[in-house]
Amino acid sequence: MATVAVLGGSFGGVTAAYELQQHLIDAGLRRKHEVVMVTDRPTFTFRPALPWLAAGHRRPEDIAIDLAAACRKRGISFICAHVEKIDTERKCVTLGRGNLFYDQAILAMGVKPLWEKTPGLAANSYSVLWPEDAVRLRDALRRFRGGPAVIGTAAPAPWPCPAYEVLYFLLDRLEKTGALKRSRVSFVTAEPAFMFYSGPTRAAALERDARRRGVQVSANVQITRVDEGEVVLSDGTRLASELTMILPHMGPPAVLTDSPGVRKDRDGFVEATREMRALRHSDSDGLWALGDLVAFEGLKNGRNAELQGRVAAYNIARRLRAVRGRPRRYVSDYFCLSRMGPGRAVLVWTRPGPQQGYPKRFRASAVGRWPYFVKVGFERVWLSRHD
Ligand SMILES: Cc1cc2nc3c(=O)[nH]c(=O)nc-3n(C[C@H](O)[C@H](O)[C@H](O)COP(=O)(O)OP(=O)(O)OC[C@H]3O[C@@H](n4cnc5c(N)ncnc54)[C@H](O)[C@@H]3O)c2cc1C
Repeated sequence: MATVAVLGGSFGGVTAAYELQQHLIDAGLRRKHEVVMVTDRPTFTFRPALPWLAAGHRRPEDIAIDLAAACRKRGISFICAHVEKIDTERKCVTLGRGNLFYDQAILAMGVKPLWEKTPGLAANSYSVLWPEDAVRLRDALRRFRGGPAVIGTAAPAPWPCPAYEVLYFLLDRLEKTGALKRSRVSFVTAEPAFMFYSGPTRAAALERDARRRGVQVSANVQITRVDEGEVVLSDGTRLASELTMILPHMGPPAVLTDSPGVRKDRDGFVEATREMRALRHSDSDGLWALGDLVAFEGLKNGRNAELQGRVAAYNIARRLRAVRGRPRRYVSDYFCLSRMGPGRAVLVWTRPGPQQGYPKRFRASAVGRWPYFVKVGFERVWLSRHD
């Protein structure tokens, strides 16, 4: 009997746990091995919909899955607890209450905000990282009657698209209430250009479109400080702001720092092979890593976490003799859909994606109505399939 601990209950962890359990069921090994999901939030949140929650287009419950119920339905054990430490020698996970011993462990705990990297950011900016942040931003947007506003990313963000979605929701709201005329909306990004991930031609067109709507764009700059009412940029520019939404720097979760046995790169991210085994760990360590906490280069996203989750699940199922065949290897796939106004979205798809180098070749990108419907449909399908 093997215990597989899946640490984290988001795109990576949920996919890995569900897929692995399905492999075990298909092989008739469901009772022989146990899959245990451990995560410190009782619900899965469909994070791509958080800007929609901030704009008042979704309620928190519309984009959440109760993980205890979803796991129970699939025969997966579920523990809602904070993982404090991972002891790779004893193969033991320290939880707030008690220990969990494992044979195989999947690290899927994502990234955490590094507020301290940008002085004043935590106190003076909204964000959309989790539902509680989006609800605070929603209330602030409802109170905002126009004036200077700054939206953007503090650093090369692992996933910049939510900042663009917030920008467009803000513009729509200001246009609808007639407050755009007395507003000055700035968008600040450390990316080389506005919506750089959509490719140079598309990015230039999208920036022109944003400027036409009155947005002042500052690209290729860092945010050095955020004060009450003001955002200071690395080129010395000072932008007045009565409503600030800046995505912070993101770094590895604290549990990795507190677990010296887990080997990491210089920045604290877990290095992994394309089979999603944690690099520099032997097979007997049974340690796997996936999602945002992996040290792969380039942009991160939920799609990649999901693909990596499938690969890890298959390769663990193979170790447990639930599937036969060669080990699977992850190939990145960058798939991003972001809303840009009522009934309008931009789709960017590249394969292999930026995790194998920053986007150079773009296979597909489109702006218009159908990407919008794909986005909305994808959310509904994902949530109903994983409920
Ligand atoms: C607003 C927003 C919009 C986005 N839009 C898109 C999009 O359109 N398309 C896209 O592909 N990606 C998008 N992303 C990125 C995507 O959501 C992330 O890449 C994805 O969620 C990463 O998944 P993950 O499983 O690696 O980790 P995470 O989503 O970060 O989840 C980590 C999980 O581990 C838990 N956890 C962390 N530490 C501990 C601990 N010590 N103990 C126990 N549990 C712990 C957390 O509670 C969480 O459940 C967006 C992100 C945000 C914030």
